[in-house]
Amino acid sequence: MRSFFEAIRNGASGDQLSSIPLPETYRAAIVKRDEVGIFADIQSSKKDPRRSIHVEQVSVPDIAPDEAFIAVMASSINFNTVWTSTFEPIPTFSFLARLGRESKWGARHDLPYHVIGSDAAGVVIRTGSAVRNWKPGDKVVVHCNYVDDQDPSSHDDSMLASNQRIWGFESNFGGLADLALVKANQLMPKPAHLSWEESAVNPLCNSTAYRMLVSRNGADMKQGDVVLVWGATGGLGGYAIQYVLNGGGTPVGVVSSPKKAEILAKMGCAAVIDRSERGYKFWKDSSTADESEWRRFGKDIRSLVGEDPDIVFEHPGRATMGASVFVAKRGGTIVTCAATSGYMIEYDNRHLWMKLKTIKGSHFANYREAYDANRLICKGMVQPVLSAIYPLDESGEAAFQVHQNLHEGKIGVLCLAPEKGMGIDDPELRERVGDQRIELFRNEGA
Ligand code: NAP
Repeated sequence: MRSFFEAIRNGASGDQLSSIPLPETYRAAIVKRDEVGIFADIQSSKKDPRRSIHVEQVSVPDIAPDEAFIAVMASSINFNTVWTSTFEPIPTFSFLARLGRESKWGARHDLPYHVIGSDAAGVVIRTGSAVRNWKPGDKVVVHCNYVDDQDPSSHDDSMLASNQRIWGFESNFGGLADLALVKANQLMPKPAHLSWEESAVNPLCNSTAYRMLVSRNGADMKQGDVVLVWGATGGLGGYAIQYVLNGGGTPVGVVSSPKKAEILAKMGCAAVIDRSERGYKFWKDSSTADESEWRRFGKDIRSLVGEDPDIVFEHPGRATMGASVFVAKRGGTIVTCAATSGYMIEYDNRHLWMKLKTIKGSHFANYREAYDANRLICKGMVQPVLSAIYPLDESGEAAFQVHQNLHEGKIGVLCLAPEKGMGIDDPELRERVGDQRIELFRNEGA
């Protein structure tokens, strides 16, 4: 894949890229089917992605008519990288086996290894015969909604498609690699003012936050809404705060350290709760919730913004859902896309029905939502939340950082790009947006 990188760096045309032969193998971050048992009897928090993620050469698959090969310059770690590498809640090989049973092309995915990763920024180097809107040479980012567009159920909101999948999690040939295989309808233009790694960290989390808050398929936020955002400097939260501010709402950001509180203040989020400092104990023990702690949390929110949240942006799950349902305003919405701390949820239903609240499930984003969210990145209206950068060979360490909540925002991974800062094509726009905003999450030395 090095020859593709060199050609791209030297400004090769699409025709020139097309004439470079594809290699037989490529470098990829993988987990292995014969290792799914290595963490048996180990507590979830101690399962270490550094043991299960390997960077090795794997075979280049065949390309289907509706697909494209991408020379991946950079990718990112998502929490689903953590799930895949800890084999929780179930090993992803079962997803690959199910996809493998669907069709001839699906069968390619059912392998004893899983190339992981659900984000990518890079250059199209091959397209299948049915691809119309993209060609070799196009600089792209990849969103992870993997749908069969011949399935009628995918033609209203494609997230409702019966066989909707997340690329690089429920399919193989993902983004943490030098080469990725994607459907053409996963492609979006690369933001010209951003580097490869700044571009790569956005698609999954930015699109998810967009659907949860901005889209009518989510909480449909309006001007003036108070929005409580858990994990407000995390992968999702870092974009959610920006959407609330851009949309004329008032964010209340919850974080767990003074450093994260400082990032929020710099983003313009005036109402910040440091949950570590406040020491909430929403659970008396593993099965008894403590309503008095929900009440204390609600009072803290009111003392900051004078009212209860219209919307709660939920994803920690079991640890926080009871509190989220309790503190939402009468008629408010709790929009949830995850359950990091546990998916068997408990809340007091009286607070839900008597106060006419709604719990809204949300999952990634359809192509339109992802494209609209990416457009905001391209215009410099939403900033990447890249904090640290690792080389592909250290994907395990990068996933470990996210698993242990040692990071802020997103961790970028350099694949073919040998160093950070490459790939900026529109320095004028970058200057207008300002490095200070674009690099606000950047850790010293990253
Ligand atoms: P992340 O970067 O790790 O951020 C999550 C944040 O949540 C952390 O920074 C932490 O912030 C906070 N948090 C973690 N445990 C908590 C707890 N017990 N109580 C309160 N806050 C807690 O992860 P992410 O990328 O934002 O993803 C978050 C979750 O959403 C993951 O489970 C992921 O798999 C899921 N997700 C789902 C979708 C979807 O499409 N359905 C898309 C993206 C992500 P503080 O420590 O600062 O409070």
